[in-house]
Amino acid sequence: MASARVTDRPRLVAIRAEALFDGVSSVLVRDPLLVMDGPAIVSVDSAVAPPPGAEVVDLAGATLLPGLIDTHVHLAFDGSADPVAALAGRDDGAVLAAMSAAGRAALRGGVTTVRDLGDRGYLSLGLRGAGDLPTIVAAGPPITTPAGHCHFLGGGAEATPQALRAAVRERAERGVDVIKVMASGGTMTPGTRQETSQFTADLLRVVVDEAHRLGLPVTAHAHGTAAIRMSLDAGVDGMEHVSFWSADGVDDPGDLVDRIAASRVAVGITGGVVPAPGAVPPPAVAMRMPRIIANTRRMYEAGAHLILGTDAGIGLPKPHDVLRFALEQTAMLGIAPVVALSLATSRAAAACGLGDVKGRLARGFDADVVAVNGNPLADLAALRRIRAVFARGVQVA
Ligand SMILES: [Zn+2]
Repeated sequence: MASARVTDRPRLVAIRAEALFDGVSSVLVRDPLLVMDGPAIVSVDSAVAPPPGAEVVDLAGATLLPGLIDTHVHLAFDGSADPVAALAGRDDGAVLAAMSAAGRAALRGGVTTVRDLGDRGYLSLGLRGAGDLPTIVAAGPPITTPAGHCHFLGGGAEATPQALRAAVRERAERGVDVIKVMASGGTMTPGTRQETSQFTADLLRVVVDEAHRLGLPVTAHAHGTAAIRMSLDAGVDGMEHVSFWSADGVDDPGDLVDRIAASRVAVGITGGVVPAPGAVPPPAVAMRMPRIIANTRRMYEAGAHLILGTDAGIGLPKPHDVLRFALEQTAMLGIAPVVALSLATSRAAAACGLGDVKGRLARGFDADVVAVNGNPLADLAALRRIRAVFARGVQVA
């Protein structure tokens, strides 16, 4: 009798809730039933009965949404007051343990996929596929100059075409998913300056050409206006921060707003601050925030391809579950909640090369699901009320 046969087929799990945001549509699905078969979604329907034999998870009053995707994290930074010193004090085993803890914290905050844009010693690559961690898209150590931004992660390369091609090839051989290059200095690295470029446009183009030849996308850390312009000239796929940082403030981006909007380069806006006592940005960042926000709003209104990363891990304001607060804080950019949610789901998935498996609640997509109490399309503060998190079909929170 076929019905009595014991098989190893995973049991169906059906989640019932009040509403569902599918990652794309601006209209919620009412009375949804989402059915998972192991790590994949097999159906999303409205007002139907669960399939026979399915385990039913009843989340009355909750809204389901795709697992969130943070396009810019550093699992190796522990979100402490001095994550660089904390990292320096850990051997690789201790770093891996801290990275796993960071990943689990992200999962509890609804983040089921992270793009790690800078680790030490390629450690994030070995964590890919771990069952109790988010899906990880990994860059390994960022390519930087020998004393440049985040050189302590081990990615320093001489500013020559030969050295940069070798650096890209090494990452490709290691199996990274994306190349991260530090086009400008940064806040965490004494001796570098955000407004100062680290490479010429020609050298950035060497990085881009070699990466593309090897089938890898490139995203450039670019604070200063010159570094942003050079990154665009070099043909990068993405840019991070894009703050137009100057020596004493923030530049007017001028013609670059339209160039960025026309380019379709993904602009990772690294937003989000956790609302906790003492979790405040460094003074040099805080004093520039109003103009950075104004410039970001200009890029958004011009049609730039924004995505919502956070730089999770780089300090107390940015713990590994900060993305849901970044979503709330997009209101100051004039971004509607449904658009903000797409920036952290379907659009983020596309920018990470995962557009056919992540970021949507639909048949065939990975069963990464967050349930929150309330309606996040009406009020993104609903993301503070996480009811359940499923990662590849397994309930993790
Ligand atoms: Zn970063």
